[in-house]
Amino acid sequence: LAPNSPEARDIAYHFHSYTDAMAHAEQGPQIIEHGEGVFVFDNHGKRYVEAMAGLWSVGVGFGEDRLVAAAAEQMKKLPYYHNFAHRAHPAAIDLAEKLVTMAPVPMSKVFYTNSGSEANDTVIKMLWYRSNALGKPEKKKIISRNRGYHGVTIASASLTGLPNNHRSFDLPLPGILHTTCPHYWKEGRDGESEEDFATRCAEDLDAMIQAEGPDTIAAFIGEPVMGAGGVVVPPATYWEKIQAVLAKYDILLIADEVINGFGRTGNMFGCETYGIKPDAIVMSKQITSSYVPFSAILLNDRFYEPIAEESGRIGVLGHGYTGAGHPVGAAVALENIKIIEERDLVTKSAENGAYFREKLSQFARHPMVGEVRGVGLIAAVELVHPELGDTLPAGKLGAAMNKLLFERGVISRAMMDAMAFCPPMIIEREEIDLIVDAFADALTELEKMDFA
Ligand code: PLP
Repeated sequence: LAPNSPEARDIAYHFHSYTDAMAHAEQGPQIIEHGEGVFVFDNHGKRYVEAMAGLWSVGVGFGEDRLVAAAAEQMKKLPYYHNFAHRAHPAAIDLAEKLVTMAPVPMSKVFYTNSGSEANDTVIKMLWYRSNALGKPEKKKIISRNRGYHGVTIASASLTGLPNNHRSFDLPLPGILHTTCPHYWKEGRDGESEEDFATRCAEDLDAMIQAEGPDTIAAFIGEPVMGAGGVVVPPATYWEKIQAVLAKYDILLIADEVINGFGRTGNMFGCETYGIKPDAIVMSKQITSSYVPFSAILLNDRFYEPIAEESGRIGVLGHGYTGAGHPVGAAVALENIKIIEERDLVTKSAENGAYFREKLSQFARHPMVGEVRGVGLIAAVELVHPELGDTLPAGKLGAAMNKLLFERGVISRAMMDAMAFCPPMIIEREEIDLIVDAFADALTELEKMDFA
């Protein structure tokens, strides 16, 4: 590497997120310079299909001029303002109204934050505040799920149910519990039907609540469809059964729609896909197509009112972020949602998602494929080794496949051995074919590799 090359300078100065830092120099940085539609281009001019929409987030694709214009216009008019105390700015008000209006279930208020992690962190604080407000200070535990992903701040990393996010960080925090992951292919027992598995998930939750004491549990949080935990599509009746348990014990339900929201599952919200009626919805990523960092929490009356009353009693809710509801983010979110609605990207996501999953299903019988799963325009292909099976360390096949796809001009993401696909919602069928063809070719290559 030339000493002044971007690669050399990246290795010299840049401490990456989610990276084995010791392997970075050897692995070599992959530097993406610009994007157009579903494609991104590296600093050598090579083109890739961004089959993960960045981090499950660039819904309207790269290079959308309308978002650039909305940001520029807002920057000129009012580049910054906040919502502390009683201050506001028009973009934050317009967006709050829009989000409440489009919510899949009745919601009353919007609280702004900057990232998915911060939003979930805020939800935890709001839950604790609410329990104190209701005179139930012991009702503070939160139940999340194994393999759920809710972020990386101290509290949201605790909600996250992946070992990677806990180990060597001294997490999770006490009072944050994890119940069964609703992944039938992995967690289902021999002879157990998918329906029976869903029942068992609900029974496991009920047993946990009983063991902890129902009066100690404030809320249950989950992604309608799990993303980073491996694109886990729950059994059809899972959410209905879970909600029945929560209703028995006066436990709030939080839907983390950070990946699912704004069309990903083939409906505007994952809650619609699964008949989920949450008390709060957490949104980020596709709310601005990630052109600007932004997140929001929608709260219903049941959640909001005790909090509002407590702030009236004790004076001032002591929580809020400098950048929350940022005017540029809010303006971009409004324009982004307008694009999703005008171009009907939700229907497009459902229709092209069905086409994509149909194409991927051709791999289901391949000896190196354990499961093909997905809903809407989010999917995963789980790789297995026909001879080595579980003796092969988890993640080896995924890492190899990731590399093979990258070489073939497709950016996917390996979550252990599950290859995830979550392309921009503007993707056309010919572009889906590019992903599928590259995958077929890479799979043939993977078969030839020696993992023993
Ligand atoms: N919640 C879900 C469902 C996510 O997928 C993510 C990020 O991938 C987060 C929360 C955390 O969001 P952020 O990375 O913006 O903090």
